Amino acid sequence: MTTEITPELKKQLRREVPALSAEIRKLYRSLDERFGLHGADVPVTFGFDPEVLGSYTAPGDPEKKEQFYFSLLFIGYLHTSHLHIEDKMDLYRHEYAHYMAAHMEIPKEYAWQSGRHGSAWKYCCSLTGAVPSPYYSFGKGLIRQDYDKVLKDPMKNPHVQLLDTARREKAYQDSRNRVVKYAAGDVITHPEFGEGIVEAVTQTDSSVRLTIRFGETVKKIDQKWLLRSQYKKR
Ligand SMILES: [Zn+2]
Repeated sequence: MTTEITPELKKQLRREVPALSAEIRKLYRSLDERFGLHGADVPVTFGFDPEVLGSYTAPGDPEKKEQFYFSLLFIGYLHTSHLHIEDKMDLYRHEYAHYMAAHMEIPKEYAWQSGRHGSAWKYCCSLTGAVPSPYYSFGKGLIRQDYDKVLKDPMKNPHVQLLDTARREKAYQDSRNRVVKYAAGDVITHPEFGEGIVEAVTQTDSSVRLTIRFGETVKKIDQKWLLRSQYKKR
């Protein structure tokens, strides 16, 4: 999938800019007509970003003027990793949905989720026909989307909300517990076993297990117990 990005390739890809601009403007003009907007008048810029397929900068950004951006490495026909036409159209619609969210009055019922890819943006996706996902997955542009599902406010179901909060909290705790705070050779003081030396550190999905020698005995202890008991590390 990867090709070296040579100056020659860049030159070739830049030659596609007029055709690509026309392709984007044509789509945006038809969307403008449907929604009474002016997205086709917003400047479209191109570059060679290997990770950002496209972006939209809303008015008021301190660093850049309002613009759409697309990486030629993904939308240029000549590059080997170029997108399928359906995926490319989806990418254009995805960015147009960002433009819409910045310029359109969004019904209150779609204000329940904040963020760049929140419910207001998803609502706009349902209007433009874009895949309502912040991440790009190749081939998704071909699949019919279930907008009702992503647009329903999960907060209206208190049970779902609780589950979600608990799960997120656990994921957060797990990630905190996974951070290794000890190394083999560390000398620690345990409230019950006294002074010990860390002999091995084992990381699991949700914790860090320490093998610690306290004189003649070896114990396996979860590092979170040590952290909680105000361990001393020397
Ligand atoms: Zn986006």
